[in-house]
Amino acid sequence: MHTRRIAVIGGGIIGASVAAQLTTRNDANSVVLYEKESAPGTHQTGHNSGVVHAGLYYQPGSLKARLTRRGVELLHAYSESRGIRYDECGKLVVAHTEKQLGQLDAILDKARANGVPGVAIIGEDAMREIEPHCVGRAAIHSPHTAIVDYPGVTRALLDDVRAAGGEVRLGTSVSRITRQGAEQIVHSSAGSQAFDYVIACNGLQSDRLAKRSGAGKYPAIVPFSGDYYKLTPETAKLVNGLLYPVPDPDYPFLGVHLTRTVDGDVTVGPNAFLSFAREQYHRLGFNVRDALEIASSGAFWRFAGGNFGEAIDQLRTANKRSFLAGAQEFIPELASEDLSPGLRGVRAQAMNQDGTLEDDFVIQRVDNAVFVRNAPSPAATSAMAIAEHIIEEILAEDRLVEPQRGA
Ligand SMILES: Cc1cc2nc3c(=O)[nH]c(=O)nc-3n(C[C@H](O)[C@H](O)[C@H](O)COP(=O)(O)OP(=O)(O)OC[C@H]3O[C@@H](n4cnc5c(N)ncnc54)[C@H](O)[C@@H]3O)c2cc1C
Repeated sequence: MHTRRIAVIGGGIIGASVAAQLTTRNDANSVVLYEKESAPGTHQTGHNSGVVHAGLYYQPGSLKARLTRRGVELLHAYSESRGIRYDECGKLVVAHTEKQLGQLDAILDKARANGVPGVAIIGEDAMREIEPHCVGRAAIHSPHTAIVDYPGVTRALLDDVRAAGGEVRLGTSVSRITRQGAEQIVHSSAGSQAFDYVIACNGLQSDRLAKRSGAGKYPAIVPFSGDYYKLTPETAKLVNGLLYPVPDPDYPFLGVHLTRTVDGDVTVGPNAFLSFAREQYHRLGFNVRDALEIASSGAFWRFAGGNFGEAIDQLRTANKRSFLAGAQEFIPELASEDLSPGLRGVRAQAMNQDGTLEDDFVIQRVDNAVFVRNAPSPAATSAMAIAEHIIEEILAEDRLVEPQRGA
């Protein structure tokens, strides 16, 4: 294979996975990764629940379903090979009401269709054996759902990039990509440089760069923040793994859950609110440009019109009392003093022109530029498989690497 010059934009877990596969699987690729922050994994990758999703909920046949199962396989093997903390602590999706009990079969069917190993519906007694402090009428048990250190994985992947001769340019922001003949010109805060290919994996800013670089306006990012609380070390002992509610099938987020982390904490959250700042993490975060862009978007108002009731419901989950109530549904013995404020994350959720939220991953190719335009949860789980999909399927004919799955 002859030398190809490839730019990767974004030093979150997806950009790091793409750059690592391009450099380690073909020494003829000359790779430069651009990250605007001074450290990798600063945004979604460093502000999430840390769960390695098994693939319970996704529409069979969708990219999310396929790339989550493959992502788990690649992530598990990589974490073990690099000594990164990965713990199969298991997950219960707990039903409390008659309606939720009725939804468990459909989740189980999807999970089995997606090839999730070991899933089963279990009754109260079996639940108590797994999580002695948890109440509920029945649950889906997913024994292989895991937790991992996503920022640690991202740093390790970037170490691999450097070790294989790639370059990681931190503190370097890309403003746009233009075409000159067959070349892609990356314009950044460090100047302009020509490449043969560009792969943009820039999360909360993905729609802006795509639009400035000649791709369409939609899907556009609508940022949704999510706050967490944290249990005290004493009460964290009441939770062994991951406790989730039965998700509302009409809503894109999974609901407030109790999550063990690889550091031994247990978090409660996240809720979901429209955010008026894409990359700010204090609770009153506001960015004029981000807010004006939302207010002037016809697609957003079409979405808001159809989801007003849900938005009002979500407002009720804004205070500590509601986090406590959510946590007590699982562990009734928790009290207000057991919860303290934790981190906040902002999700890059894409919206279509008609105001619907895009459910599946969306990756667009325009000439030799590829734009990852929708990669919300479970895209940290799927990141290595998303990278493989871009390189081996979307860019298959360009043969940037030898396919590793016999494609
Ligand atoms: C609250 C919350 C909980 C979640 N929980 C889970 C979970 O438990 N499991 C799971 O699998 N997923 C989860 N996710 C989703 C997961 O975190 C994301 O899908 C994943 O991190 C996306 O990775 P990324 O590399 O696309 O984005 P990011 O990590 O956001 O990285 C994008 C990078 O691009 C950089 N960038 C942007 N614009 C430019 C530019 N112009 N020039 C240079 N650099 C640029 C940014 O600085 C950033 O570092 C959660 C997300 C949130 C917010």
